[in-house]
Amino acid sequence: MAIAPACIFTCLILDFMTRPIEALISLANLQHNFAQARNLTPTARIMAVVKANAYGHGAVRVAGALDPLADAFGVASLEEAVELRAAGIESPIVLLSGVFGRTEMLEVARHGLATVIHCVEQLQILLATELSQPVDVWLKLDTGMHRLGFTAEGFCRAAGRLRAAKQVAKLTFISHLACADDPAAALNERQLSAFSKTLDGLDVGVDECASLANSAALLTRPDMHFDWVRPGVMLYGVNPLAGDLPLPAELELRPVMTLRSRIVALQAVPGGEAVGYGEAWCAPGLATGASASPARIAVVAAGYGDGYPRHAANGCPVLVNGKSAVVAGRVSMDLISVDISANPEAQVGDVVTLWGEGLPVESIAQHSATIAYELLTAVNQRVKFSYE
Ligand SMILES: *Cc1c(COP(=O)(O)O)cnc(C)c1O
Repeated sequence: MAIAPACIFTCLILDFMTRPIEALISLANLQHNFAQARNLTPTARIMAVVKANAYGHGAVRVAGALDPLADAFGVASLEEAVELRAAGIESPIVLLSGVFGRTEMLEVARHGLATVIHCVEQLQILLATELSQPVDVWLKLDTGMHRLGFTAEGFCRAAGRLRAAKQVAKLTFISHLACADDPAAALNERQLSAFSKTLDGLDVGVDECASLANSAALLTRPDMHFDWVRPGVMLYGVNPLAGDLPLPAELELRPVMTLRSRIVALQAVPGGEAVGYGEAWCAPGLATGASASPARIAVVAAGYGDGYPRHAANGCPVLVNGKSAVVAGRVSMDLISVDISANPEAQVGDVVTLWGEGLPVESIAQHSATIAYELLTAVNQRVKFSYE
């Protein structure tokens, strides 16, 4: 029986088996980035921050790969911590926002977790609860970000009560920086001096620790390392410095997530005709002096329903078979269109990299008015994850 051309085309598409968007996670690159963090701080211990499902990379797999290397993990909630304990992670785990109610405090002790205490309500819960075992507490000072943390006065009072409390094992003093991604920001100095001054007044004991630095401060401010540093985004290969500031020369970060999909359809769009919702991109016409041949558009199975940013503007870069191309027209829920007029050999089924290896997620963030953190954490369950 003769096979009709339409059928051959269909078979080509069916070759991918399922909708082709996938996130490839390189655990080797993750471990490499962790080693880079280790090189930056000769003495401080490292809490690997794996909140929000390890910035969208899969918390259990990420923590599993870092468990032999990291001194502790940082998470945002009890649920995130319990997920890691259930997966066999035995390292210290710190709840960076503390508990959200009294029952959670019991669970913190039961699972051998550590918790931040950032407000008087959490302090009262701890002091009023009989725990199955003492817990490590990270007492938080607000040094100027004005999000979480005690005032200096409240902090010193809380420290006194925690030092005397039978519910407390080890006490660590913590604060968080608002502008570490901008090394020139004056607030950095004010936060450091507020932290140091308050700790001086506390007469920090030999078994007590201090922690201030996130990724950006780990990179740029050795004087902020204290006893524990808390890198997050750099472990995933993202430059934590704002506005394209270069990384220190000796530092090499490698992308951990590569988000990619495939071309599912091709379009020849005549000059003057538009592509996608709202006619947001128009094929160049004769009037512009461009060539008379139609624009070649590749339709790719990726959209905001997967976590690809809807605000990726016309011109946002992608790689088609490793070659540069750009988004053309609005991002829709399941699909994007890409101008491949300069890449005539591209075919249905070809691989399109949306970010990752060869295409920094920071550059996609810049083109969509957001930050890499948001893009990575937005990749959702519709995307197939694989680990290597
Ligand atoms: C998320 C977080 C970090 C990590 O920040 P990065 O900028 O990703 O390095 C560190 N400390 C606290 C308290 C956090 O919430």
